[in-house]
Amino acid sequence: MKRDTLISATNVSVHYPISGGKLLGPKPVVRAVENVTLNITKGSFFGLVGESGSGKTTLGRAMLKAAPITSGVVNFNDGEVNYSLSNMSSKELKDYRTRAQLIFQDPYAALSPRMTVRDIIAEPLEIMQLTSSREETDKRVREIAAKCRLNLEHLRRFPHAFSGGQRQRISIARALVSEPKFVVADESVAALDVSIQADVLNLLKEIQQEMGLTFLFISHDLSVVAHICDHVAVMYFGRLVETAPTRELFNNPCHPYTKALLSAIPSLDPDAKNLAQKLEGEIPSPTNPPPGCKFQTRCPHAVDICRRDEPQLESVGDEHNVACHRWQELM
Ligand code: ADP
Ligand code: MG
Repeated sequence: MKRDTLISATNVSVHYPISGGKLLGPKPVVRAVENVTLNITKGSFFGLVGESGSGKTTLGRAMLKAAPITSGVVNFNDGEVNYSLSNMSSKELKDYRTRAQLIFQDPYAALSPRMTVRDIIAEPLEIMQLTSSREETDKRVREIAAKCRLNLEHLRRFPHAFSGGQRQRISIARALVSEPKFVVADESVAALDVSIQADVLNLLKEIQQEMGLTFLFISHDLSVVAHICDHVAVMYFGRLVETAPTRELFNNPCHPYTKALLSAIPSLDPDAKNLAQKLEGEIPSPTNPPPGCKFQTRCPHAVDICRRDEPQLESVGDEHNVACHRWQELM
């Protein structure tokens, strides 16, 4: 683990057992995350991007110890504590829950309609017993609500009275009230209108800087990631296929999948058709992956070696890594 790393994953796999298969022989599994290694630097806004089903949520949850890690190691070190997530006491886990938080994807589903906004935001403090009086809880709730630009009068109301953007701010306040160091934001703006997305992204960025947070920002939308993240990891079929500082990824994409994602952003390439037209071929079955590179079934550049050997992440340059046998030829 590098010195300025807050959280790292080393060769992390998450396999979910599923029903079916033969009576004898190996039980079938979904390989939601396979052999992922990444480092998130303190204070970074780290983007994780890929199509639906690529394993983003599972990886984010594994880093929060909310998905079962089948193999590999997740390390967290904020300067106060140093945890290896697969080897924690229940006391340490309880403490980790205050330091690492999830902002939910869908605020409509995440917010209880029968609780006031105040109670929704206060609940983590109460569950984790982080305050010793109602006054202290109220003070913490008011502080974080103000940071999230919620009107203090709104604290007495119920969430159904609010717009999508306001509800997302309530979710953000709830996730941040325990003053975590590491925050996973999973599709935090996906359910919002485009006009409101920018507001919420700006708010996240502001709060991140103000509170010195480190974010793992998960999105299926590379254009959203481009706006807010300083680093990006591109995920495909449970694997990381490319990681780089955001500007480097946009200026010098090396993986054919990254190139396809980029060409599908209309503002970058006005002539581009949508992704489905750019990428032909089928997404492989998660229980029956093809040999070699998992992208070979859709890659226009696949050759024999791609169908035989799985490429590993290799260095392209400073902090830029790609898993493709042919990246140099395709430059
Ligand atoms: P993403 O967030 O990128 O859409 P997910 O992490 O949700 O991807 O899912 C990755 C893969 O793992 C998918 O094939 C999904 O169906 C599978 N998966 C996710 N959670 C479970 C689970 N609890 N049990 C079985 N399979 C799962
Ligand atoms: Mg997801």
